[in-house]
Amino acid sequence: MSMFEEATQQLWDAAKILKLPAMDIEPLVIPERTLEITIPVTMDDGTKRIFNGYRIQHSSILGPYKGGLRFHPQVDEDEAKSLAFWMTIKNAVVNVPFGGGKGGISVDPKKLSQRELEELTRAYVRRVADVIGPETDVPAPDVNTNSQIMRWIAEEYINIKSKIQNPKSKQETNMLRAVVTGKPVDFGGHSGREEATGLGGSIVLESILKKIGKSKYPLTVAMQGFGNVGYFLAKYLYAAKTSDGKPMFKLVALSDSKGGITAFKGEAFNSEKVMECKKERGRVANCYCVGGVCDLRAEQRITNEELLELPVDILIPAALEGVINMDNARNIKAKIILEMANGPTTKDAALYLDRHGKIVIPDVLANSGGVTGSYFEWKQNMEGTNWSLTKYRKELRNYMETATDSVSKTSKKYKCSLRTAAFITALKRLLKS
Ligand code: NAD
Repeated sequence: MSMFEEATQQLWDAAKILKLPAMDIEPLVIPERTLEITIPVTMDDGTKRIFNGYRIQHSSILGPYKGGLRFHPQVDEDEAKSLAFWMTIKNAVVNVPFGGGKGGISVDPKKLSQRELEELTRAYVRRVADVIGPETDVPAPDVNTNSQIMRWIAEEYINIKSKIQNPKSKQETNMLRAVVTGKPVDFGGHSGREEATGLGGSIVLESILKKIGKSKYPLTVAMQGFGNVGYFLAKYLYAAKTSDGKPMFKLVALSDSKGGITAFKGEAFNSEKVMECKKERGRVANCYCVGGVCDLRAEQRITNEELLELPVDILIPAALEGVINMDNARNIKAKIILEMANGPTTKDAALYLDRHGKIVIPDVLANSGGVTGSYFEWKQNMEGTNWSLTKYRKELRNYMETATDSVSKTSKKYKCSLRTAAFITALKRLLKS
């Protein structure tokens, strides 16, 4: 089964529960447009190379296509289609006025110079400029793309469109910047965007815990991946307190691509210190930071595989796709799994975990704070406004709590997993539109 077939199967499962005919579902599965492009780049040594790129416009039912742009050697049509499909579902679950899209270039950006990377990005924009735009299709950062790349995209797009449209005011130019989100703060971005996915995940987790009536705190947490998403989530979990001022969570295991650490019984990691130390020593595995002190404790090092199987209350995959699969699902001891990465659990493993009473908070809900934050950036660019960080965070909380509430109610109503409930919620919104 291809990745796309596996991804879309989840929608068919939801449709079965709602007893919907196949003819209603098929148009929601197939992408509206699949664009495959070639991008020639002159390399620093004077040679020419041709890269393959994609933009998948999956669904525009709820609004402009929205989804990231990935630079990675494994990018291909199947992966881009799957990720675009998940964006359609995610945007519908969190109820932002966007459809789903995704794009990418098959390239290892770490092997390019800064100039080659800029040329590649700008050449990609020239190829897709006719089909993207603030009201058509709005890319964003994803794996190996960042705010600098978003700035190049916006600049190139504005150059092209200014020749045709000749914007008359500063606000018209600002609106053109809304062609991408995740821009630098001095170029139409927002300071709240960087933390939005992690903060959103902590809001979803706390809402679910309230709903299931968890009363025994602190809960132990193991988290795989300590990048943008993992760091900010850890920061908010570390700070979370119960109504009587006690810590809600204890971070007892953390990792990055080079391995992880697990705490001695009774100890818990200080996420802020781990991040400071990681910057200095290069890897989480060198940073056994408890309280204010970072000790090198080799005997507490673990592999990423071991981390997933630790006896903790909450497991958080925040790095890669497919890490929870039938090779390890039987050994997972956590009762709650918060999927911060996109697609961290394979379909078979998800079914196994559901059958064994685990609560899996699905990616399309758990990490939807990112696209919600992107929506706020886009809205401000379009309206010429600039929200304070307090307003940004308050709005994010509203969206995340409302989405969690509706997925949770749907799960109770149809007696199904939170994942199926999220797909039912999305399906109903898409069909209604
Ligand atoms: P990132 O590149 O900032 O961080 C990724 C982290 O995962 C790093 O700590 C890296 O060392 C670690 N990692 C890489 N390979 C690993 C491996 N084999 N084992 C364990 N850890 C490994 O990326 P990010 O933005 O934090 O994204 C993480 C995940 O969250 C991805 O699946 C991404 O698609 C998803 N996501 C991100 C956002 C966002 O706003 N950044 C939004 C929604 C979903």
